[in-house]
Amino acid sequence: MKSLTYVGAGQFAMTDKPIPEIIHPKDAIVRVTLSSICTSDLHILHGSVPRARFGITVGHEMVGVVTETGTEVGNVKPGDRVAVNVETFCGECFFCRHGWVNNCTDPDGGWALGCRIDGGQTEYVRVPFADNGLTPIPDNVTDRQALFVGDILATGYWAAKISEISTDDTILIIGAGPTGLCTLQCVMLREPRHVIVCESNEWRREFVRSQYPQVTVCTPEECLSTVMQNSRHGGADRVIEVAGSDESFRMAWMCARPNAIVTIVALYNNPQVLPLPDMYGKNLTFKTGGVDGCDCDEILRLIAERKIDTTPLITHEFPLNRILEAYDMFEHGTDNAIKIAITPD
Ligand SMILES: [Zn+2]
Ligand SMILES: [Zn+2]
Repeated sequence: MKSLTYVGAGQFAMTDKPIPEIIHPKDAIVRVTLSSICTSDLHILHGSVPRARFGITVGHEMVGVVTETGTEVGNVKPGDRVAVNVETFCGECFFCRHGWVNNCTDPDGGWALGCRIDGGQTEYVRVPFADNGLTPIPDNVTDRQALFVGDILATGYWAAKISEISTDDTILIIGAGPTGLCTLQCVMLREPRHVIVCESNEWRREFVRSQYPQVTVCTPEECLSTVMQNSRHGGADRVIEVAGSDESFRMAWMCARPNAIVTIVALYNNPQVLPLPDMYGKNLTFKTGGVDGCDCDEILRLIAERKIDTTPLITHEFPLNRILEAYDMFEHGTDNAIKIAITPD
């Protein structure tokens, strides 16, 4: 089968691999019916994920159909349509029992698919701990609607959840890339008083305005003044930083009111500095990523109820055999690409 493989530093290439087999009784094999490219795939390509292994098939955003299950898999069966979770977790260790599945201590725990073990930019994928890693897709939810459930939508849902949002709050979301847009939808489910989205790209600002007219949109240059004009207590009650630059990190704490929660979802290329003397007296609470992706059932329920819809993010579609063109488009934002769905050939 065709597999987009991390062949060496800075290099992905299409290679031929055998269809994976069950190697553990908790495994399942899934035929990939739709996958996507994530910014984290670019992080692997550019060498900023040191734990990524050469030779693995990349890709960790996908949906598919179960073709085979191990003897200890009980929640899914062959023929089931499933969303695949980016995270692999045992469900039994200290961290899993607390819901911190990102820190699962199993050797395959955390972000393994498409990083340390073969992922989903291919035809079939083996999913360990299938009872935790696969969520059946309701009949009234399409593959396109479910495509982001296990990764960027899980991240947005988790970010909104840990930010402890109330209906009195003014929320600032920094960054309206794919994950920022998923975060925005999950934040709006909590019905805060006001939502402000800061984004540097003009087309993406326009996208937010057209899709979510109730949201205030600003540029990074306008961000601090926009927040001050639209918040009642000298800054945003909650800031969710999804952009990932040195500047956006600084803006996140600057725009927060005293005693705010600042949730950092972004992945940075550089270490960030907390200038504590400048923040003294602001009494901020920082919460940091990555996602504990264990709410996929709930997210799929919200999609089925039409409360979340991420299909407008899918701006382009490519077959698997042209995935390298899709990478190029995704990386450079050509043709205003937000997310690209990859279909089987
Ligand atoms: Zn991802
Ligand atoms: Zn665990």
